[in-house]
Amino acid sequence: MNMKVEKAAVVVIGGGIFGCATAYYYTRNYPGRKIIVLERNELCNAATSRAAALMTRIRSKKAFIPLSLETYNAISAMEQQLGESMDVKRVGVMHVAATEGSVKELEALMAVAAEFGEPTSWISNSEAHNRAPWLNTEEAIRIGYIPGEAYCDPYLLGTFYARCAKMQGADIRQGVTVTEVIMDGQTAVGVRTEHGEIRAGKVIVAAGAWAPLFAAQAGIGLPMAPVRSQYWITDKAGIFPADSPIVLLPDAQAYARPEGGSLLFGIREKKSFAASPESIPADIHHFSFSPDKGMQDLSEVIEKLARFFPGVYDVGLRYYVAGFSGYTPDNNLTMGIPDGVENLLLATGCVGAGIAVSGGVGRAFAALAAGEPNPYDFSSFDIHRFGKIDPLSPEWLERCAMARSLKKSG
Ligand SMILES: Cc1cc2nc3c(=O)[nH]c(=O)nc-3n(C[C@H](O)[C@H](O)[C@H](O)COP(=O)(O)OP(=O)(O)OC[C@H]3O[C@@H](n4cnc5c(N)ncnc54)[C@H](O)[C@@H]3O)c2cc1C
Repeated sequence: MNMKVEKAAVVVIGGGIFGCATAYYYTRNYPGRKIIVLERNELCNAATSRAAALMTRIRSKKAFIPLSLETYNAISAMEQQLGESMDVKRVGVMHVAATEGSVKELEALMAVAAEFGEPTSWISNSEAHNRAPWLNTEEAIRIGYIPGEAYCDPYLLGTFYARCAKMQGADIRQGVTVTEVIMDGQTAVGVRTEHGEIRAGKVIVAAGAWAPLFAAQAGIGLPMAPVRSQYWITDKAGIFPADSPIVLLPDAQAYARPEGGSLLFGIREKKSFAASPESIPADIHHFSFSPDKGMQDLSEVIEKLARFFPGVYDVGLRYYVAGFSGYTPDNNLTMGIPDGVENLLLATGCVGAGIAVSGGVGRAFAALAAGEPNPYDFSSFDIHRFGKIDPLSPEWLERCAMARSLKKSG
């Protein structure tokens, strides 16, 4: 049987938010060049649609900030292009510091916000409680408020990128599994699918949890591991106003945001769970993230959380959501162009921030795929920074899981 061989300037493996955002910027900024995105399921089915979707702009890791600011630019541009609102919830964020260490970190964060021209204010404990009546502020020492922060529907954001990309000429295919990156020596020259080959000038790996498997085909030990994130959505109650701010609780290693009259809250587990990319099925809906819907993990940290959210013991939990993000030992993104391999770009290692940074990531990979300089500083995301590692080894998975367990910020 003759296998079909097609050609494109760029081929992207994976139609999650990184793949879709890259296609959006590539077709917008470099019109007329052919880009094909290959997604084996439906667009945004894996990590993207499961995200809590905090679009945090101001972080202590400053290299993330321009990427996230670009996401907000993209949303405005796409809303105009499609003539539809994405209904972004611009509710702001309250950072609650309850130890001297957290106060210092919050003061530094507020200074970062000022550096980027982001409005902020300090608010009193009673004001914070009025805005989020579920929040017990008795132990708070300082509370910083950043009104410009927001959250969104992540599936909508991912598919906005895809719809605009298609309008601009992207070829986005669902139900197509990539089986292999085709290498010619140390150069990536295309991908193989069950239907044939696509030869391309640039191959972009945007395969989320499965990205290390493709990087390995090019001889690269991609330093990330799929680590589970999980959150719960409570029953509706009067103490959860739909327009209340996002709340970040570093001293409980937890976050919360409104969800239409309920509260969505997430924690960092004492012992996070990492899985080898090889063991995660293509249909993530068939993966059992937790036999007890995270109850054991929640019970291990519930006392810390209850200091700020005393109602957690009594409230009904209506939904449980879990998924994998690509974590690294330093909680920093892992992406870019690997040394020693030509024409392979790795849009990977999202460290649980992929919705927020999607605009900048898409813009950067579009530029790199077009052979232009990266508009952002990716030096701290360098994929070689941990030296030679085996991303499938139990030791590596454990290191990445541990990084999530220690994570304090949102
Ligand atoms: C519970 C949870 C909460 C989160 N909360 C937030 C948050 O508040 N804020 C935030 O910014 N981020 C959050 N994230 C992280 C965010 O969801 C991810 O960073 C982002 O979705 C990563 O996008 P991606 O495109 O890299 O991966 P994915 O969305 O997983 O996309 C990868 C795609 O590649 C496809 N694929 C894989 N292998 C193949 C193949 N062989 N052939 C074809 N296609 C293939 C998959 O089917 C998948 O669709 C959260 C994640 C989870 C799980």
